[in-house]
Formats: sequence, structure tokens, C-alpha cells
Amino acid sequence: TTSSSTALGRHVPEGLPSHIQHYIGGEFVDSLGGQTFDVLDPVSNSTYATAAAGQQEDVDRAVTAARKAFLDGPWPTMKPRERARVLNRIADAVEAQEARLAELETFDTGLPITQAKGQALRAAENFRFFADLVVAQFDDAMKVPGSQLNYVNRKPIGVAGLITPWNTPFMLESWKLAPALATGNTVVLKPAEFTPLSASLWAQIFRDAGLPDGVFNLVNGLGEEAGDALVKHPDVPLISFTGETTTGQTIFRNAAANLKGLSMELGGKSPCVVFADADLDAAIDSALFGVFSLNGERCTAGSRILVERPVYEEFCGKFAARARNIVVGDPHDPKTEVGALVHPVHFEKVASYVEVGKTEGRLLAGGGRPEHLPEGNYIAPTVFADVSPEARIFQEEIFGPVVAITPFDTDAEALELANNTRYGLAAYIWTQDLTRAHTFSQNVEAGMVWLNSHNVRDLRTPFGGVKASGLGHEGGYRSIDFYTDQQAVHISL
Ligand code: NAD
Repeated sequence: TTSSSTALGRHVPEGLPSHIQHYIGGEFVDSLGGQTFDVLDPVSNSTYATAAAGQQEDVDRAVTAARKAFLDGPWPTMKPRERARVLNRIADAVEAQEARLAELETFDTGLPITQAKGQALRAAENFRFFADLVVAQFDDAMKVPGSQLNYVNRKPIGVAGLITPWNTPFMLESWKLAPALATGNTVVLKPAEFTPLSASLWAQIFRDAGLPDGVFNLVNGLGEEAGDALVKHPDVPLISFTGETTTGQTIFRNAAANLKGLSMELGGKSPCVVFADADLDAAIDSALFGVFSLNGERCTAGSRILVERPVYEEFCGKFAARARNIVVGDPHDPKTEVGALVHPVHFEKVASYVEVGKTEGRLLAGGGRPEHLPEGNYIAPTVFADVSPEARIFQEEIFGPVVAITPFDTDAEALELANNTRYGLAAYIWTQDLTRAHTFSQNVEAGMVWLNSHNVRDLRTPFGGVKASGLGHEGGYRSIDFYTDQQAVHISL
């Protein structure tokens, strides 16, 4: 382990592991064949650890352990209150380690430290929420007087395969782990290969909280190897996936042979629509947060801003001025607002879109690497105006601090522009007109709409996208439905 806080001129957390293992059946193990992959930090882009690279045989081992824990129990048959106690202890542990988790997450992902802190608290809240929900859960009974009684026997499905991306990895893992475990399933988690560090903490947290061995299993590795083996495994009836749309399509095809239950949270290119009657300052605040928080590496980023013509130039001027003032720098510095992009491969992708944007729009802010940051995966918040709907930067998910602004003249044109991409994850609408606000919200092709408000989630609401942004909804009881079978039992009276 390294423990210097100044190695290579950057902040390195104390006690950083130099090797990250799988966690299978209650034990930390390496791949049977000894395969590993390198893990980089996004500030120096140097390898700080190796991680076990799971192969099909390692996934087999993890699924066998999870299946045994499911069939032998006690987890699936424990009373909801008993499971909830374990989940609440998990939440307590996550909260107690908030600072440490945030430090590791920031080191591995490049997220600004102030924003990483919030992610740990959200992860804890996911466990508390689903603990409460399964305790309160009840199911229908339907009586036909004098002839029949029918009731719903809800039961966990088995081994759930959870495949997660590298953006806010710990929080997004919790979003799947909490409902899958709360409902009594056992799991195999395959976290993103760019960011395995925080996922490795779950094992100890679950062990300390009293989760039986084999209920939680972690297999690190590449998507095409470990992820692929999990998707194709015949003893894994459910896959919950968050990641890119193209990966979702591959998983959809590969899950067909075993007709698996699939939940997919995919990419986005969400519009932020600002009408001339909006509270412009509030809209600008929110639009900045929407695309530049979390380094712009968020699925629900408002990465296309549509502005009504009378306030278009004023909006562009003020928005760009604010974007130019955003503090880009060392992710561990509490003053930093945009940190380093997760990985050099992703940095190259975002940087190439910035170059494309220079041929497709009017550059108002940013435009590439900030001058004061010659090393590391840094991109200055970049704003393009006058972007046409045919432009690649209007159509394609960039997943970085880059935004396209487009003017419109009528409500109908705004709606057409808003819906003019393959994606349909989120939409943000700014107007003081109540009727327009609701009419537009109901017509926009988006799974989630925020009206005159920031992206703040109420965990009871459905979460998911339409079109190429996803399949199915999780959140609240919808997650309970996804992770359980509802068997109908009929008896004659
Ligand atoms: P990705 O699709 O490259 O990878 C996601 C996960 O899938 C990783 O764990 C990866 O190893 C695995 N994977 C890759 N190929 C696989 C295969 N063939 N079979 C099985 N697993 C495979 O996505 P990413 O780059 O890690 O994440 C960014 C993307 O995730 C963006 O498109 C973003 O919009 C999306 N995202 C969506 C949501 C949402 O809720 N809608 C949330 C966060 C991120």
C-alpha cells in the first residue's frame, strides 16, 4: 500500500490498496487464472493498483456462492424487519465512513470532493429507504364471495446480476444493491473497470453489518469478460444494468437466450428548456448545475439548453460568463467545482467532441484543456451557442462538461427540438406559465421532468428513461416489483 499524501505531487489517500480482489462467498479472492487489470487515477493517469480481472470461471464461482446462499438461506426467508435491521446497519456504516468514502471516490473518479460527499449520504439513504419499504410492504388478496380467495405471494427471484458504470459508482451500486437485497435476493455485482476502488469497500461493510456470506458477491473485471459472463449465466435470472445505450443493446441480445428480467438505465441527452417568461437567474443557476456538476459525467445532465429567442442572447451571455468562472482543478480541493474526467480514454472522447463542436457552434466558453492544468484529464466547462439540431454535439451523449445552446421561437418548435434525439431520460422546463409548464412536461419524451427545479430525487418516484434511455423503471415500489416474483395463488372456498 502507498500512504503518502504528496506522492507525484497530488493527494493520495492513506492506506490505498495496491491490489483489489473479488469477494466471493465471504472471502476475498483473486481470479482463478490470476488475471488482473490496471487501475489509474485520473489526475496523474498512473497505475495505483491492479484489480482481479474476473473471467467466466470466476463469475461461475460467484454465481454458485450466491445461488447456495439463496437456496440454503436464511436471507431470502428472513422476516423483512430482520433484513431491514441489517440494511440499516449498512446505512450506518456508510454514513460513518462518509469522509473516507468520499476521499476514495474522488481519488478514483476525479469527482470534486464536495460532490463526492453527497454521494455517500445518498448511498446510505438508499439502504434506509428500501429497509423501510420492505417492512411496510403488503400484497393484495382478492375474494370472490362464497367461491374463491386469491392472494399474491411475493417472493425474491434468486441471484440478481448487477452491472454498474463508473459515474458516481458507489451511489449507483447502492441504488441496485439496496432493493435487490431488501427483497431477499442474493447478488453478484460487476462494477465498472475504470473505478473499482469504492466498490471494494462494500464487502467489509456488509460483513460487519451481519449480511450472511454468499448473499453479496463482487466480481471485478472487464465488461466484455466478467460482465458478459454474468449476462449469459443461466443461473442469473435478473440483470439490472446502468451504462451506455450501445452496451444495453448488447446485453439485451445476450440475455435473450435465457429470457432474463432486464432493467436498463441508459444514456441521455436531456433538454433544459428556458422560456422567455422564466426566472432567468434561477434557470441559469440550475442549468449550470445540471450540466457541470459531477464533471458533466451524469446520465441526467441537461446537456442541450433550448432558449426562447427574446432572452436568448442575454441567457447565452450570462451563462457563458458564469461557466468561465467555474473553478476547475484538483478534485480533492474543496474549492474545485469541476475535477478531472474519469480516465484518459474518456478524456479523449470528450476532447474530440469539443473539437467537433468548434465546427458546429459558436464557442462562448472553454474549448479544451485549461491552460493552468497541463496534466490530468481536465476539460474547461465548454459552451457552444447557435447549435443546430443536426449537429453531433446536439444529438450525441458527450458525458462531460460540454453544453449546446439552441434558440427557439414557439412552444411547438421547443417541443420538436426537445424530442429531436434518440434519447429520453430527463427534461428540465423553466417557465412561469402553469398551463404551458404542465402541457410541455406531459408532451416531452422524457422519463423524468423537473419543472422550475433542480434534479433532486424523491426515492419514491419512478426512475428511468424512454426511447434509447432505458427499459423499465426502478424507484420505490417499482424496484420491489423488479426484484420479486408476484405469484397468484387461488383457492376455492
Ligand atoms: P458502459 O456501458 O461502458 O459500462 C457500464 C458497465 O457495463 C461496466 O461495468 C462495464 O464493464 C459493463 N459492460 C460493458 N460491456 C459489457 C458487456 N458486453 N456485457 C456486460 N457488461 C458490459 O458505461 P459507462 O461508460 O461505464 O457509463 C457511462 C454511461 O452510463 C453513460 O451513457 C451514461 O448516460 C450511462 N448512465 C445512465 C444512468 C441512468 O440511470 N440512466 C446512470 C448513470 C450512467
